[in-house]
Amino acid sequence: VDYKKEFPQTIGVTNLDSAATGLVPAPVADFVFKYTSTSCANAGRSAYRKSVELTARIDFAREEIAGFFGAKTHELTFTPGATHALNWVAKGLNINCGDVIVLTKADHHANILPWMDLKKQGVQIRWVECDKSGQIDVTDFRQKVEGAKLAAFTGASNVTGAIQPIDVLVKICKEAGCLSVIDSAQLAPHKRVNFDELGADFMAIAGHKMMAPKGIGLLLANENSSGLLSPLIVGGGVIRDVTLDGYELQPFPIGFESGTPCVEGILGLHKLTNWLIEKGEDLYTHESELADICEENLRQNPKVKVIRGNLATPVMAINVEGWQPHKLAVKLDADYKIAVRSGHMCALPLVRDVLGYPEGLMRISFAAWNTHEDVEAVVCALREISNVRETR
Ligand code: PMP
Repeated sequence: VDYKKEFPQTIGVTNLDSAATGLVPAPVADFVFKYTSTSCANAGRSAYRKSVELTARIDFAREEIAGFFGAKTHELTFTPGATHALNWVAKGLNINCGDVIVLTKADHHANILPWMDLKKQGVQIRWVECDKSGQIDVTDFRQKVEGAKLAAFTGASNVTGAIQPIDVLVKICKEAGCLSVIDSAQLAPHKRVNFDELGADFMAIAGHKMMAPKGIGLLLANENSSGLLSPLIVGGGVIRDVTLDGYELQPFPIGFESGTPCVEGILGLHKLTNWLIEKGEDLYTHESELADICEENLRQNPKVKVIRGNLATPVMAINVEGWQPHKLAVKLDADYKIAVRSGHMCALPLVRDVLGYPEGLMRISFAAWNTHEDVEAVVCALREISNVRETR
């Protein structure tokens, strides 16, 4: 399979940083460009044909995107990204003084900080341990969830790729009468998720990590749980009535989408989900095979430490003996035209505290556009670099 030809952005660079953001496939980028260069209406506002047409396209996009994630149309609200989706849940739920929230050490700051803010109002946080591959400790999770109001956890680590047993974790939450919030920013780009089958209460998705344009994400809310949320942002386009005394909003999801929507983002994400359906599961197999080969090769280098979940997305963290991660990333870019991420990767509790790398790590992540040549390029580059010491 050759997906690379659909990603002209890869000409002249080996992009191994899909976990930071996805490259938009050419058919999706072209579609968005064509829409932008010919559009002349806002959605859900005016009565002329172009506006009505756009409103219908967005309704259709919501229906098909929800279907892609196994959710019902009225369970999906558009957000600017996963960070916003998680903040909307943390700040929009009625969490009170004395309530207990369960978080994990495997999570990204986006699924930690919004919950930490609730400490100011007397909410207590319990931390679930994870192992040295970023895998959440299910036994510890089960204990910590007892008596808790809510548990928020990642679907896959953005550092080690470790895929979490979200079906098991959701079941534990249900048995304990605790709400579940899943950060699927890193899982959804590599594995189809079925929100309704899973039965979770809330799920955050980052469109840009799935190769959609930036500025679009999703909050999926179970139809039985969405009523627990209040919108943080209110304004035009979503009301039932406004009088001088107050207002009444439409229910979730529309009542949560005040203001002009990110039309390019929504249409782009819609086009992308169709593109993904067309490519099928082979795409996930392709990227996963590349990552496995890369991991296997890197593990043969005694100076390279690879940190990756047993069951993982095509993402891995590495440390090269004698090299500070940022300097290593800069060298890979400057001398080999290889783009990777370095640092704490917005996961300090995991990278510094659990894994023990205060200076951070370097991350290699694969996606549809990568090839066997990319694997060879990074393995060879790291072989050469690991034989010399960094000059500080
Ligand atoms: N959660 C995880 C696990 C992530 O990796 C990221 C992005 N780095 C986010 C949340 C934030 O997503 P967004 O960029 O859409 O706000």
